[in-house]
Amino acid sequence: MVEKLVDSYKREIDYLRLSVTDRCNLRCIYCMPEEGIKIINRKELLTFEEVIRVTRILSDLGIKKVRITGGEPLLREDIIRLIGEIGKTNGIEDLSLTTNGTLLSKYAEPLYRAGIKRINVSIDSLDPQKFKAITRGGDLKQVLDGIYKAIVAGFAPVKINVVVTDLLDKKDILDFVKLAVENFISVRFIESMPAVDLNNVECGKIGIIKSDAGLNKNLSGGYSIYKVLSIVKKNWSLYKTDGPIGYGPSEYYKIKGSRGTIGFIFNNKAHCKNCNRIRLTPEGSIKLCLFSSCEFDIKAEIRSGVSDVDIKKKLVDFIKTKPENRDANNDYKNCGSIKIPNYMYQIGG
Ligand code: SAM
Ligand code: SF4
Repeated sequence: MVEKLVDSYKREIDYLRLSVTDRCNLRCIYCMPEEGIKIINRKELLTFEEVIRVTRILSDLGIKKVRITGGEPLLREDIIRLIGEIGKTNGIEDLSLTTNGTLLSKYAEPLYRAGIKRINVSIDSLDPQKFKAITRGGDLKQVLDGIYKAIVAGFAPVKINVVVTDLLDKKDILDFVKLAVENFISVRFIESMPAVDLNNVECGKIGIIKSDAGLNKNLSGGYSIYKVLSIVKKNWSLYKTDGPIGYGPSEYYKIKGSRGTIGFIFNNKAHCKNCNRIRLTPEGSIKLCLFSSCEFDIKAEIRSGVSDVDIKKKLVDFIKTKPENRDANNDYKNCGSIKIPNYMYQIGG
């Protein structure tokens, strides 16, 4: 009988965020540094076969749900074939994808056929100029066309992820809610995460690089996610709903007559007690928490010839170092600590 991944707090881990690349064709100000990124040497990325092997090992240990992410996952060579193979892995019941949407027009239908059930698209403003500024060059129309193709392909609903930064203003909020009211789209406002050195976002201004507030402090200075919720409540009469299927710490609301839902994802350690997820980075490290420096270098195990059986034993031990919550002391001894990645594109968000 193969052991399952259960941590020291009796949480069963059945959800994997699988980052297939660190490459991206956008440069979102809250995710990447303006001066550009140092991409991982191709040889250091997990190969197609290695990704499949790691998925098989993890599904044997109880992983049932996989979200494909990146960088921009649709830039990965052979992404459709890779997704198809992951979907065929015994035990994987749910496959989803997070994308910036720039290549969705081309990929929506093949993704649907390959077995992706749910798609999240990241858009932080419905104003084309502002979208361009936030993504440092993105074309909003291209992304909206992609969403349209995704709906036509059969994705229902498509979720839109909106990171709440100081750049989000009242007009943005009202535009997004209108989009959810009129379409079968779930808009989710996401509290920003401090796993990045965000010195480039300042209240109300775009592209201003100046802040001594450090990490995430300046990100919540405009509207906090709670303020966004109160603005939405003030303008519409909301009622709570279960929302579309998903496995995150979200609260969903509907407005009478709306086709879609409006969600709020709080960056709150209260949700940690139900955490069921781990992450696989593109260079083959398993991370137990965004806020933990502990990593398990599964690529090193594979490339040094360790058997699946032995890797599974090590993972069952490693999972016990998953911190109780985001504020817990993560400085575990013997946890194979490597580094804390600075930017979301390196971890998968
Ligand atoms: N490129 C794809 C995309 O943008 O959807 C997938 C990778 S991206 C890193 C995954 C998610 O992380 C996106 O929804 C993005 O908005 C979110 N994200 C990036 N940086 C973040 C931050 N500092 N706080 C909260 N979410 C963040
Ligand atoms: Fe690229 Fe996604 Fe990061 Fe934006 S959030 S820079 S699209 S990885």
